[in-house]
Amino acid sequence: MTNLVDIKGFSKPLIANLQKLGISNIQGLLLHLPLRYIDETRITAIRDFRLGDDVQCEGEIAHAEVSYKPRKALIARLQDASGQLTLRFLHFYPSQIAQLAVGRHLRVYGEIRHGFFGYEMVHPQCKNVGESTQVAETLTPIYPTTAGLTQINIRKAIALALKVADLGETLPANIYKGLRLPAFNTCIAALHSPAPDANLNVLESKTTPEWRRLAFDELLAQQLSMRKHYIKRRSIDAPAIAASHLLAPQLLNNLAFKLTNAQQKVVAEISHDLMQAHPMQRLLQGDVGSGKTIVACLAALQAIEHGWQVALMAPTEILAEQHFKKFETWLKPLHINIAWLTGSQSKKERELALTNIANGHAQLAVGTHALFQEAVNFKKLGLAIIDEQHRFGVQQRLALRKKGEPEPHQLMMTATPIPRTLSMSYFADLDVSVIDELPPGRTAVVTKLVSDERRDEILQRVREACMAGSQAYWVCPLIEESEALQLQTANDTFAHMQATFPELKVGLVHGRMKSAEKQAVMAKFEAGEIQLLVATTVIEVGVDVPNASLMIIEHAERMGLSQLHQLRGRVGRGSAKSTCILLYQNKLSEAARARLKVIFENTDGFIIAQADLQLRGPGEFLGTRQSGVPMLKIADLERDADLLEVAKNIADSLIKEYPKAVEAHLARWMSHAGELVKV
Ligand code: ADP
Ligand code: MG
Repeated sequence: MTNLVDIKGFSKPLIANLQKLGISNIQGLLLHLPLRYIDETRITAIRDFRLGDDVQCEGEIAHAEVSYKPRKALIARLQDASGQLTLRFLHFYPSQIAQLAVGRHLRVYGEIRHGFFGYEMVHPQCKNVGESTQVAETLTPIYPTTAGLTQINIRKAIALALKVADLGETLPANIYKGLRLPAFNTCIAALHSPAPDANLNVLESKTTPEWRRLAFDELLAQQLSMRKHYIKRRSIDAPAIAASHLLAPQLLNNLAFKLTNAQQKVVAEISHDLMQAHPMQRLLQGDVGSGKTIVACLAALQAIEHGWQVALMAPTEILAEQHFKKFETWLKPLHINIAWLTGSQSKKERELALTNIANGHAQLAVGTHALFQEAVNFKKLGLAIIDEQHRFGVQQRLALRKKGEPEPHQLMMTATPIPRTLSMSYFADLDVSVIDELPPGRTAVVTKLVSDERRDEILQRVREACMAGSQAYWVCPLIEESEALQLQTANDTFAHMQATFPELKVGLVHGRMKSAEKQAVMAKFEAGEIQLLVATTVIEVGVDVPNASLMIIEHAERMGLSQLHQLRGRVGRGSAKSTCILLYQNKLSEAARARLKVIFENTDGFIIAQADLQLRGPGEFLGTRQSGVPMLKIADLERDADLLEVAKNIADSLIKEYPKAVEAHLARWMSHAGELVKV
């Protein structure tokens, strides 16, 4: 791959600026495509202007002044043979005053608006030209750029790249021709400098064959890279673990409930994966409350029965603690030893846990991030389970996998459903199981949207519910900007609730509490000794207290959709009718209103996730879940869904039949996307 340093014409500052845009070589520069285009190929007479059009015209400055009313502005009148146009600058430099001096001949480009004196352009682009300066031969691209890199300079850099780059085909011709898409080199040329007769609207909608070809190439590169990882994993050794004939049946026998069909189906899928001699990488998706924990436990038993250790990692201490307890009640009767590891336990407890994990006495280790730290050595790790995997970064998941030799199987669980287009693209290297059914007997949570002005009514409602024997959560507003402020808000809310409800036992839990304190509060809440639990969003994941049937979320408008859905999932876990009240502060922004509407109207996590994806786009939606994974820059999963489908269908056979083409294709596109870090 040609480095920019080796090419004449690329100065150090230019290279540094390109780097800021994520461009490090010639191929990356080629694939840095315009945001939009402007048409400088023709000159329009002022008489022929139409409001709202972007046009170029040319003439002489007939008048210029710096005016101070209503506010400071540089105003000039440009005259051509057919009429006059006002040019207005609200910010300007002395050099611009000079450029717009009376008598100067200028070519200007901008949007035509209605002004006080007829047509005007605000902040037009101005060029000094002679009477006979040629107009542009192609449409002018406008590139995404960065401070310090002008359009002119980035255009020059790309023009240079076009001259020296290899624009050869990476794909067998039958593939792109079969899709009626043009050759790569013609697409690159056409998109960087489109012919003057190209339709701007069509071009910018990115649905022309040229755009589609590049979108396809990008999607295909993503698929190829993911599927190569997938295939490579099959050549890595992992313990082949036979099904559980003793422990799992015993546990199922002891359970108070029967697995749902959906649970049985995913248990079988996971069990089958564990029997393979290569590492499982399975993502288990299931809405809040769908019963993922028991599925994880059954997978653990298969490994434990055959002498392998299991690690279960959760993103918060509260959740890890809860899992620890639940697994104890399930596994104690089966005489299985469980170790417990978090960042905040005493040195002695920690040493003991580490020893038991290292000598194999602990058959299961439950904990937080603490589990993959260096000091932790497993004797024989066969399976790593990660709950609420979206809370972990890619690197953390990777670290846990390195704890086994041979590589352990890995089961990742998430309560945030992944919309189909995303799971086809960003998750194409994983196997996915879905629990698409809730255990019987759940009652749907009733959601209410209530303005904060009606707070008193809500307080009354909390009192009534708690007096009648049920329990409630009061979720404090989220303050992302400051942890100190978040803590203060939690303390204030707690004090306020205690004062408001002298007759109730009120508890407080937040992220900054010591783990023992947190555990004590959660235990009391579970035992019914606390009736109203004031909490920050630490309770968002996993917490399972079936008797809690009322939740109030303050400043719900500040929270994201999946966060609201997860929080709401903390109620509706028992047989009692549950309610979630979303308190919001007027005036709602457009985006907040849209979010609240979705959460109010829907309880199905899949629909909520789909809406979330639409509102925020894939980058935000994926967030830390896939941090480190390059995002698609050209393709759009919705707009180009048909191309995604094709890319997915042909990736595996391309890898098998055209390995050279695949390498060339990845080399070109990975320079654009950055190295794929994938687990
Ligand atoms: P999540 O998928 O959100 O992690 P959990 O595993 O915490 O859900 O399960 C939620 C609750 O449902 C727990 O109390 C669990 O014991 C219970 N549960 C799980 N599976 C079933 C089932 N098949 N029938 C009845 N209750 C179940
Ligand atoms: Mg869970």
